[in-house]
Amino acid sequence: MTAKQAPHGRVTQKAPAVAEVHIVWMTAGLGCDGDSVSITAATQPSIEDVLLGAIPGLPKVHLHNPVLAYEVGDDFLKYWYLAEEGKLDPFVLVVEGSIPNEKIKKEGYWAALGTNPDTGQPITTNEWINRLAPKALAVIGCGTCATYGGIHAMEGNPTGCMGLADYLGWDWKSKAGLPIVNVPGCPVQPDNFMETVLYLLYQVAGLAPMIPLDDQLRPTWLFGRTVHEGCDRAGYYEGGDFATSYGSPKCIVKLGCWGPVVNCNVPKRGWMAGLGGCPNVGGICIGCTMPGFPDKFMPFMDEPPGAKLSSTAIGAYGKGIRALRALTNETVNKEPKWRHPRAQLTTGYHPRSY
Ligand code: SF4
Ligand code: SF4
Repeated sequence: MTAKQAPHGRVTQKAPAVAEVHIVWMTAGLGCDGDSVSITAATQPSIEDVLLGAIPGLPKVHLHNPVLAYEVGDDFLKYWYLAEEGKLDPFVLVVEGSIPNEKIKKEGYWAALGTNPDTGQPITTNEWINRLAPKALAVIGCGTCATYGGIHAMEGNPTGCMGLADYLGWDWKSKAGLPIVNVPGCPVQPDNFMETVLYLLYQVAGLAPMIPLDDQLRPTWLFGRTVHEGCDRAGYYEGGDFATSYGSPKCIVKLGCWGPVVNCNVPKRGWMAGLGGCPNVGGICIGCTMPGFPDKFMPFMDEPPGAKLSSTAIGAYGKGIRALRALTNETVNKEPKWRHPRAQLTTGYHPRSY
């Protein structure tokens, strides 16, 4: 079709600043692959949407994730070597799982991917990060283990593991000037991660400004509010009406919910397509997105220390307010008296003649 024959609307289409982007996804941290599994549940956008280019004007995306790849073994690992050689440019490095401290291991290794042909020894996760992070357009920590250390970095662990920013430095910048992008969650909420990837694609395409991140390097539009601010049980909290056993529809703060002090949008967003979540559907928030997770939240099923004070304070106010609201509720639950089938009009209508 010649330019003359092309539909006029095509002028709205612009080629992205970068035509193709590779995503090199390392699941070789200390992790469970739960984040890789989680993102297959995303719908806004889905992983298929991104890979098939459902949103026009964005770069073509090639995903190299061992959980989802067709290739196996050396066929799969070739992308790692290409990235290292600068032949997979540009690429985004996604890291899943905590990063072990290999400096404390004199022999062997904590975590690795592939084998060094020269030495016959496994290539550690640390080494891959050292090789690839400086070459990446952006580095994303996927899940709480990769972002802040997570469950594997809890007190008493033998690996001394940590999150990406602890490993690379909190001020680390990619060659494109991007800070590490942290998308925590254990696992990551599917759409939270895919939305972040989508934002970065818009940024790479030249269609969006620098991704807004908070001081913990989290996207602000996803982690700027607390669980409590988006929990549909907060009405019970405000009314001082607390569950005393699991299975109750009331606020579960006394059963261990940390929602008021945790940055996360899951109860507001739901887990998949608006369904599911945590305290909104009866599961205490254990703070799985937080840098202090899990140690600062354990034991999970005890009432958080700060909750005692605030829930006691709201108790008297809540009881009074609930009584007043019950009265008003009774009033507004009755129709006005002029709605009847009698022969008189009692609505207060006064016809005027002109
Ligand atoms: S269940 Fe948790 S998040 Fe929801 S209102 Fe109660 S304390 Fe807040
Ligand atoms: S609501 Fe709490 S437990 Fe649930 S995903 Fe968010 S931080 Fe984790």
